[in-house]
Amino acid sequence: MSWRDLMCGEPRSADIGKRLSLAGWAGRRRDHGGLVFIDLRDHTGICQVVVNPEHSPEAAEAAHAVRAEFVLRAEGELVARAPDAVNPGLPTGEVELQADSLEIVSRSEALPFQIDDEGVEEETRLRYRYLDIRGERMQRNLRLGATVISAFRRYMESLGFVDVWTPMLTKATPEGARDFVVPVRLQPGKFFALPQSPQLFKQVLMVAGMDRYYQIATCIRDEDLRADRQFEHRQLDVEMAFPAREDVWEVIEGAVRGAFEALGREPPAQPFRRMPWQEAKARYGSDKPDLRFDLEISDATETTRESEFKIFADATCVRFLRVPQELSRAELDRLEERAKQWGGKGLAYLVFDEEGEVRSPIAKFLSEEELAVFRGEPASTVLFGAGEPELVARVLGALRQQLGRELGLIDEERDEFLWVTDFPLFEWSEEEGRWVSEHHPFTGVRPEDEELLESDPGAVVSQSYDLVWNGWELGSGSIRIHRQELQERVFRVLGISDEQAQARFGFLLEVMRMGAPPHGGFGFGVDRFLALLAGEPNIREVIAFPKAASGSEPMTGAPTTLPDEQLTELGIRVVDVGQRKGHTSWSTQ
Ligand code: ASP
Repeated sequence: MSWRDLMCGEPRSADIGKRLSLAGWAGRRRDHGGLVFIDLRDHTGICQVVVNPEHSPEAAEAAHAVRAEFVLRAEGELVARAPDAVNPGLPTGEVELQADSLEIVSRSEALPFQIDDEGVEEETRLRYRYLDIRGERMQRNLRLGATVISAFRRYMESLGFVDVWTPMLTKATPEGARDFVVPVRLQPGKFFALPQSPQLFKQVLMVAGMDRYYQIATCIRDEDLRADRQFEHRQLDVEMAFPAREDVWEVIEGAVRGAFEALGREPPAQPFRRMPWQEAKARYGSDKPDLRFDLEISDATETTRESEFKIFADATCVRFLRVPQELSRAELDRLEERAKQWGGKGLAYLVFDEEGEVRSPIAKFLSEEELAVFRGEPASTVLFGAGEPELVARVLGALRQQLGRELGLIDEERDEFLWVTDFPLFEWSEEEGRWVSEHHPFTGVRPEDEELLESDPGAVVSQSYDLVWNGWELGSGSIRIHRQELQERVFRVLGISDEQAQARFGFLLEVMRMGAPPHGGFGFGVDRFLALLAGEPNIREVIAFPKAASGSEPMTGAPTTLPDEQLTELGIRVVDVGQRKGHTSWSTQ
């Protein structure tokens, strides 16, 4: 006996007259006083099964006992439906299986929610993920993911990239997050770190002569979860020897193209746009600007240098957004609240009404010349940011994004891929009182800036780049440091002493002394890419078993405590550090 001859979505008119077995889950069941109709379903679709008590009393008895989501096997002849029963909305709508045998293979309790019900709370969906995945949305998303990943593999291999597996149990790899650690029974008191990325291994592979490496790598980072962030995510991780950064970009653009083509979609135009980080911050207030709408930020620092309006005159930087709408008082109040959330002190504005008359508490301080610069079309609003450039960019960037959405300026039909280039190598951390890496500490330095490393670290431009799609950062990469002496200088700027560097990254420094070719690469965030391709707002929708926002995995209930014996064996004593934020709740935001 074979369980099934066709999948449920496959029978067609051409199969009429064949004797078939079908197996799947029971969907809708209709009892027509005698005849029983059951929708038999699997991921390919639905086939209607009819059971006629006159033909087969045993099958009819089984059919009466069937409830939603029972697993069934039906056997019988495929017949044409009566003309008035044809369902043109269903690929199998012209046929039905006239079952003379119906077997209940497996029963189901009453479900906590109906398959494909769209109104189910996310925590319930994650708790019963197998039922959620049985539905159309998750089936589509997981299959889309598999198609894209297999396209990536084919493409990378066609270019001579070699898939090399790197360890999960390793030493800390700094990518800006905390490490998850694993205790080692055989060496009590010692811990492996799970890799935040295979960064160091892929660099070592270049020194080892692999030339072109790739991997669909799992990256594990202990950081707060968000719509585009999980503890675990997948990267198309790439490294190549002797590259120019354009070579890396070309490879990644090809991978994007391959994914679009595998899904039967029109790929985005190539090459992707490129924009230096400075420019992205100045014009869009963001290092991952959404270019599907304009609403650009303009600079007014020079214009307002001599302003009567003290706040402008005294500010390091004054910039403004020209909004193509006459915003109301209430809207401006709301935007001001938003600006304050982002660290702004307030929100200066000029509203130009239909007649072009200006309405604003600050207009009286501005000269005619200043007003002339800011005056736009009638029925528009100018919003200002004044202060340190970083703050101004943050506030105006956030307002730009919000207004783009709220005013319907985003062209949803458009796809905008962008390389953001020339990031600073370091940023100053107020919290830690030291320079930290903008990306990771192995990022290359623009050759002409090497001499500034010690004297003016903030001015050093790196050889890194990010890929952005419609305002989502899809990943980062760089040309790396391949000279030991330069790597040591960077560590020193980061406040890592030579001894610490030796202890943490001694192997890397050693590798760099043994014939390290120039190399560079990229870590492409697969889950973010998939979420965007699937039109999903959250990467959890493309991951089979994601963590909820609290950091728990609702189906298995992980993480859990360990039995005392296991802790003892590991040499671990648990001390109470209290609950951490987000830990007690189930929230899935
Ligand atoms: N390892 C980096 C990351 O995970 C990517 C790279 O630089 O290749 O962001």
